[in-house]
Amino acid sequence: MPGKLLILGGTAEAAALARAVAGRIETVTSLAGRAGIPSLPGRVRVGGFGGAAGLEAFLRTEAIGRVIDATHPFAARISAHAGTACAALGIPRLMLRRPEWPRHPEDRWTEVADMAGAAAVLPGLGRRAFLTVGAGEVAAFAPVPDVWFLVRLLTAGPLPLADHAVITGRPPFAEAAERALMAEHRIDVLVSKASGGSATYGKIAAARHLGIPVLMIRRPAPPAGAAVDSVAAAVEWLRLDRPSDEC
Ligand code: NAP
Repeated sequence: MPGKLLILGGTAEAAALARAVAGRIETVTSLAGRAGIPSLPGRVRVGGFGGAAGLEAFLRTEAIGRVIDATHPFAARISAHAGTACAALGIPRLMLRRPEWPRHPEDRWTEVADMAGAAAVLPGLGRRAFLTVGAGEVAAFAPVPDVWFLVRLLTAGPLPLADHAVITGRPPFAEAAERALMAEHRIDVLVSKASGGSATYGKIAAARHLGIPVLMIRRPAPPAGAAVDSVAAAVEWLRLDRPSDEC
């Protein structure tokens, strides 16, 4: 039998992978637990491991044979920890990263390296911003002057922004609804992570059709290691159709 698989999740791709390998390999999906717990085949564990050392201990205790890091492209810490822990134990690790969104000729993107860079250039792009970067990143925009924010979050909570409104929602978001939302709030700039994936692409297409600039925060560099960009390729990496070398 192949060794147990750990899927580091929190994304649609991780859930799709867990479903694709169900019944073919013993699987544990790990979630940070901040966005609810989806129903998945296999075992699901929730919460941080306690850094790279905690993850290493988990891999050892659970006799994990392989790891697929299917976390969000902006979840840089858990990916770094996975790289460190798997290297320490010699456990094969694959990163499953959804492709970047293609840039259309009519897209008006200003790309920046990080949230601080986005906050610095935002006032030059618009006065009514649709902020879609997640609750953990909103504070970076607190010092931005003269901009009203429409902030979309998974769950509402107090924000350190002077002038704003909060809406809640969970992907997927359709382009038509995104267009209507941006028109209703007279949005003149969209702030987005370069997340990729279809579930949140509607806002990017909507901005293009409305002629609205997009302030696009580039992905952090992933740790070194093998990577694929589709669930099918991740399943292929597991070689589940081949007989095990173990006796
Ligand atoms: P992060 O900054 O890379 O991780 C922060 C800490 O959260 C990690 O050090 C780890 O705690 C814990 N953690 C993260 N992912 C985990 C997982 N799958 N299983 C167990 N512990 C995990 O991550 P983040 O940006 O806060 O994102 C948290 C989760 O939300 C990720 O799993 C990611 O896939 C998902 N997500 C993130 C975004 C985004 O924009 N960042 C968007 C959609 C979904 P310990 O150090 O204690 O182990």
